[in-house]
Amino acid sequence: MNYRSTRGGEPQSSTFAALHGLAKDGGLYIPEKLPNIKLTYNELKDLSYQELSERIIKLFFTEFTDEEIKKAVNSAYNSETFTDESIVPVYKLNDKVSFGELFHGRTLAFKDLALSLFPYLLLLSKEKQKEDKKILILAATSGDTGKAALEGFKDVDGINIVVFYPKNGVSPMQEEQMRKQLGNNVDIVAINGNFDDAQSAIKVIFGSEEFKKYANDHNVMFSSANSINIGRLFPQVIYYISTYVNLVNSGTIKENEEFNVVVPTGNFGNILAGYIAKKLGIPIKKFISASNKNKVLADFFQTGTYNKNRDFYATNSPSMDILLSSNFERYLYYATGENSERVAELINNLLTTGVLKISDEELANIQKEFYGEFANEEETVASIKGIYEKYHYLMDPHTSVAYSVYEKLGNDKLNKDVHTVIMSTAHPFKFPAPIAKALGLDENSEPYSILDKVSEITGVAFPAKLDEVRKSEIRFSTVIDKAEIQDYVKKYIKNLK
Ligand SMILES: *Cc1c(COP(=O)(O)O)cnc(C)c1O
Repeated sequence: MNYRSTRGGEPQSSTFAALHGLAKDGGLYIPEKLPNIKLTYNELKDLSYQELSERIIKLFFTEFTDEEIKKAVNSAYNSETFTDESIVPVYKLNDKVSFGELFHGRTLAFKDLALSLFPYLLLLSKEKQKEDKKILILAATSGDTGKAALEGFKDVDGINIVVFYPKNGVSPMQEEQMRKQLGNNVDIVAINGNFDDAQSAIKVIFGSEEFKKYANDHNVMFSSANSINIGRLFPQVIYYISTYVNLVNSGTIKENEEFNVVVPTGNFGNILAGYIAKKLGIPIKKFISASNKNKVLADFFQTGTYNKNRDFYATNSPSMDILLSSNFERYLYYATGENSERVAELINNLLTTGVLKISDEELANIQKEFYGEFANEEETVASIKGIYEKYHYLMDPHTSVAYSVYEKLGNDKLNKDVHTVIMSTAHPFKFPAPIAKALGLDENSEPYSILDKVSEITGVAFPAKLDEVRKSEIRFSTVIDKAEIQDYVKKYIKNLK
């Protein structure tokens, strides 16, 4: 299978696309043609998560041998990397709603599903491309990607990784997880700026010929761990498929019965993976993109206008504090009937004016399958409280945004007779303050003491991985201005051994 840019251009191999991340024209790689298959429950029902992963990864990385994929998958998904044997368990709340729990990996966020496997896919791609330069991964993070990427890449030979995060834009647990990261090939930098600033600066570096030459002169090439990379996207398709099989196995839905998904959305990688699962035959009826107060996507799905010229808010669901959603471009590609000229035109409008507007006809078409809504911080806390009191189930704030959105939508927007899966993207213990608020504790207390209390009250075990963080030393304290990111990267390359 080959890949081309969402904005057109020549096809490239999967290993080239994975190694380079972004296409030359600034677009994102998408399969030239999606596999023409229809997955059936019968062929899936007895597969382990690992076997299912092999089956799916094979479809998108046709240059790898079966043995290579098997080894990568089993290194990524095992009892050391995930605390739940099924990797992604499904928790049934009631007859209407289940949670797809994506937070049982090493860093307690859904990013682990992709970033546990991605390093192996990248190394294999490097090998197949006969690339002998050192790889420097630059990642911008709104909190969870950073830690998951650092864990995935730590001490991997031939690869270095630098993570940039917004100084005041992540939770204290997220920040500690990153600043205490182990490994000899990692670096973590806080910036005075927001996530979009970090992501944009990195995109400039990736797109700059001058930077490429500078890196090249130092025997270094750039790659990305952000969800623009195909090696991040396709591993996420797997858990939508496993969730379907799970729902049928447990009798929650019947074989071929449709279900809805509500996804807490920022960069649009998670929900897009669900859309691809649907294209492979998984019976998903409707996709709901759930936003926090940074509701640029919710507005788009309601009005057809994507307008990033607006205030940016730091919220209690920081991993969704994003105004420029990078994977959205891939969605546009499919929403326009795989019309790369139209995508290039729309994205060009967005990049030059901050606004992108689709036609009424295009919007009507989109709304058959997708819709968007948002929940503010108060609603998010209220849902955490409400669901805990009623069901004794503790949601993290991102998951709660999605649940709040589910509650908000009427039957005209989302058919509630259809079972709905809320994608649960993080462990609640990553976000002590909103959890404290929901449970009536003092949100300004020291974060770990909040969590001890939460654990005591709710009976939710303190996650071992977070306890490890608690006991380790801070290793990184660099803070720079957002305007200094490029100089920082140059210096880093210069000093690379
Ligand atoms: C990254 C993240 C999201 C947003 O996912 P996208 O794929 O960027 O849309 C939501 N919740 C949590 C906890 C995350 O870490």
